[in-house]
Amino acid sequence: MNNRTFAIIKPDAYKKGASGKIIDRIIEEGFEIMGMKSIVLTKEKAEGFYEIHKDKSFFNELTEFMSSGKCVLLALKRDNAVNKWREVIGSTNPDEADSGTIRKLFGSNTGNNAVHGSDSKENGNIEILYFFSENELFEEN
Ligand code: ADP
Ligand code: MG
Repeated sequence: MNNRTFAIIKPDAYKKGASGKIIDRIIEEGFEIMGMKSIVLTKEKAEGFYEIHKDKSFFNELTEFMSSGKCVLLALKRDNAVNKWREVIGSTNPDEADSGTIRKLFGSNTGNNAVHGSDSKENGNIEILYFFSENELFEEN
């Protein structure tokens, strides 16, 4: 069944000019892009997005990084979208990611790992609606 997931091209990947390649890959992997925008997150918006990690030692580093430059936000649709996107991006730590995954190709380290992917269908919807309103999302199929 079709479902949604949420992706971010993080500032490290954006800065190295990898956005086009990553968007190509998204399309090649059969995702429909329902919504896409390029913005710079405020620190507060990044803190809200990653609230689940607020007690982690890396929270400040993470939210500083995520608000350090432009991101591309993507609402994606595909069958098995959440699992498929996690498979395409690879492990959190690019050194441990399978070859050919986006984090292996474009990530630098556990913090600067090129892309975000939702971890469940429920969180995918919550994360999409954290950045998009329903009327900004378009479905072809
Ligand atoms: P994922 O993005 O693979 O779902 P997590 O949800 O565990 O990973 O962490 C969210 C993000 O926080 C990661 O993508 C990464 O950018 C950052 N992060 C996770 N662990 C660390 C760490 N040990 N040190 C620095 N940054 C980290
Ligand atoms: Mg996560």
